[in-house]
Amino acid sequence: MKWRAGRRSSNVEDRRGRRTTSGPRMGKMSGGMLVVVVAATLLFGGDMGDVLRLVTSNMGSSGGATQSSPVQPSAADAEAAEFVSVVLGETEATWEQVFAQSGSKYEAPTLVLYSDVTQTACGMGQAAAGPFYCPGDHQVYIDLSFIRELQRLGAPGDFAFAYVVAHEVGHHVQNIVGTADQVRAAQSRASKSESNQLSVMMELQADCYAGVWANHTQRRTQMLEDGDIDEGLKAAAAVGDDRLQRMSGRAVHPESFTHGSSEQRMRWFRSGLESGDIKSCNTFG
Ligand SMILES: [Zn+2]
Repeated sequence: MKWRAGRRSSNVEDRRGRRTTSGPRMGKMSGGMLVVVVAATLLFGGDMGDVLRLVTSNMGSSGGATQSSPVQPSAADAEAAEFVSVVLGETEATWEQVFAQSGSKYEAPTLVLYSDVTQTACGMGQAAAGPFYCPGDHQVYIDLSFIRELQRLGAPGDFAFAYVVAHEVGHHVQNIVGTADQVRAAQSRASKSESNQLSVMMELQADCYAGVWANHTQRRTQMLEDGDIDEGLKAAAAVGDDRLQRMSGRAVHPESFTHGSSEQRMRWFRSGLESGDIKSCNTFG
């Protein structure tokens, strides 16, 4: 992406210099368990429900304390933080325009950069759970180490990470327009597999919204370069439930999907990308 000339968002909160210490059991979280959590959660957890709660419950219930520690971001992380700020700025421009078309005003989320763990209105945020959106405080949480995780999953490139950021902002849009509440209400009355299906529809819609973002950004700024769309599609495929289940050595169980298959995630991202219209994102239809 040709992003350097882009506008930086003013809605980034940088907590990377702050270390949050939490319950005594957290230090005992084994490497093996972390791997399991990462494998299970590299899904851009929408409302960060299941997995983060799982992590938090394993940490005991003690609250966290914030300490300052001199964490100096690497040059690569400093650049990644700038990049995230530009991507967030483009989501703001996109959604302001989309909301204005229906006569409403877009309230942008804050994006929190943190390292390792941080407090959120949804519980303790863990880098191991991947980027997530917390509907309780309207904030997107990202530990930049996730960029390396994406590379490990076979989705390198700046646009792959931009897709992740835009997907999380997509969850914010679902939250403020009421979709998230409707889905949660329906899930409370649904069976486990129906509830999973609803979760998949939410996630695919966030993928489609990421596509809408890419369409608008390209029309507005021509930031996208050859190969960027491929990077985005690769990222969407890399985090498909079938692919992640296979990678973790498990059998593929479609009824347990919560985010959608690689094919579905690519298809819905492409739908938003090609149309630039949220009407093309009715994954519930
Ligand atoms: Zn999601």
